[in-house]
Amino acid sequence: MLCPMCSSTLTPRELGSVHVDVCDGGCGGVWLDGRELRLLDEAHEGDAASLMDIPRTAHHERRPGRPLCPRCTQKYPLRTRRFHPIVHVDIEECPGCGGHWLDFGELHRIRAEAPDDATREAKARKVFDEMYATDLSARRQEHQTQLERMRRWLFRAPTA
Ligand SMILES: [Zn+2]
Ligand SMILES: [Zn+2]
Repeated sequence: MLCPMCSSTLTPRELGSVHVDVCDGGCGGVWLDGRELRLLDEAHEGDAASLMDIPRTAHHERRPGRPLCPRCTQKYPLRTRRFHPIVHVDIEECPGCGGHWLDFGELHRIRAEAPDDATREAKARKVFDEMYATDLSARRQEHQTQLERMRRWLFRAPTA
């Protein structure tokens, strides 16, 4: 299988139960089939850590054009998607086979921003709570204005 970014031959690697293909000596990226990204995300810290320092050539040749899926016999262009709503790392995904490509350093950034589901959930909850609190105070304000208007209407001075 060839690297979608630099066309080097990918090297298969087993990390516990997770199978990955790394661009060893090329651009240092990682290919993960279907559910492997999920498994890797849940994998032991040590396993994931070994993917963060893949030997690479600093000045690797970048393939021209959009990167294509290395699994689907190069048919599908990979598309970019956010790894997680609150993790600001964009990864490549194949719309055909559901595989993922992580550029060198992306796994490191994902782990640095939010190492696990629990941390992500806590962060997401915080963002939600902040949004909700802002919304609530805006609504309270609106409600207050309506009450005031009604009060003035009900208890207005009788027109003589
Ligand atoms: Zn590569
Ligand atoms: Zn594919």
